[in-house]
Amino acid sequence: MTRNPSSSLSRRAFFASSGAAALTVASGPVYASVAAGSASDYTYEVVKSVDDWLAQLGEQSYAIMREGFTEAPKSSPLWEETRAGTYHCKGCDLYNFDARLKVVLEKGWVFFDHAQPDAVLTAIDGAVPEYGAMSEDTALTEVHCRRCGGHLGHLLIVAGGMKHCINGASLEFKPASA
Ligand SMILES: [Zn+2]
Repeated sequence: MTRNPSSSLSRRAFFASSGAAALTVASGPVYASVAAGSASDYTYEVVKSVDDWLAQLGEQSYAIMREGFTEAPKSSPLWEETRAGTYHCKGCDLYNFDARLKVVLEKGWVFFDHAQPDAVLTAIDGAVPEYGAMSEDTALTEVHCRRCGGHLGHLLIVAGGMKHCINGASLEFKPASA
């Protein structure tokens, strides 16, 4: 299958399927075997084929959630969404974030102070060029869905504190009932 993601996306490794996390930490002898083992031994509750994920998510969300791309800032309308409600994983519908902990920042991704309990997992990821100099040549903490492993975004220190910086294309917003 040949895919041609838009130029606004940059190629990123998805650790769960590529083993990139193990390669990233290979220079750390104490932790390398622990990280590699935990990544490869973990089985997500929701597992689907590439074709099934593509059919469900569409090209853009597939590139972000299953291949680790980052969306262009402000490309998702959710970045400035302020209504009450809940944010769910687009891959498996797990309730990942609550609007009460959402923060609108001009950087243009979807920011939260916290995730819901037991909703996300974290891993070591590389730099994200879209973020600019803030993360150049540094490793980042990746945030992904606990249930399906879908890549959601990263933990960043921004606006005076640690935030979950999430791709809107990885989320489905469910407004609170009026
Ligand atoms: Zn999920």
